[in-house]
Amino acid sequence: MSRGLILVGPPGVGKGTQAELLNERLGLVHLSSGEIFRAEIDSQSDLGRLAQRYIDEGRLVPNGITIEMMAKRLRTGEVRRSGFILDGFPRTVRQAEALDTDTDDLQLEITAVVSLVADEDVVVARLSERGRADDDPETIKRRIQVYHEETRPVLDYYEKQGLVRHIDSDQPIEDVHADIVRSLGHD
Ligand code: AMP
Repeated sequence: MSRGLILVGPPGVGKGTQAELLNERLGLVHLSSGEIFRAEIDSQSDLGRLAQRYIDEGRLVPNGITIEMMAKRLRTGEVRRSGFILDGFPRTVRQAEALDTDTDDLQLEITAVVSLVADEDVVVARLSERGRADDDPETIKRRIQVYHEETRPVLDYYEKQGLVRHIDSDQPIEDVHADIVRSLGHD
């Protein structure tokens, strides 16, 4: 069975950076729902046009569309062979439940959920420096609110399955990476 990791944390906590480092170290395929949406927007597909409205407002793209998009990416041979890291998905309990069904069907296994933790001031400062279109102050505020309301319950969902490892993300990138690797038992 191929293994899978999930990175969870508020916007700006460093999920993308850590997912890239884990991809380099462990060879797991990095699937970022935000990046997939941005690529769809760039290619002006129907999905991209639909997603953009939500992303620009700092709201979540509807569950059905997001679940279907990620299920398609999980079905690839590369994911089956190499395993995967999910960055930015699931962001709602409904997405987590759908993911459980999909991974069962595809004989993939979620082996750990890494929860990246940092002070809100730190993540807001990081986002403001990044300069992405959805990183203006109003949208950042909305995204953090959405995180607390919709995504925090996802951590409780995985806590019940005993999968969550909490990592202090308010340290240099390499130290965060080392802590994650240690928590996975890959020293
Ligand atoms: P990210 O790059 O992960 O910060 O995602 C950027 C934006 O894409 C988010 O603010 C949402 O609007 C949208 N998005 C990314 N992942 C999801 C998801 N799992 N469910 C719904 N919307 C998402």
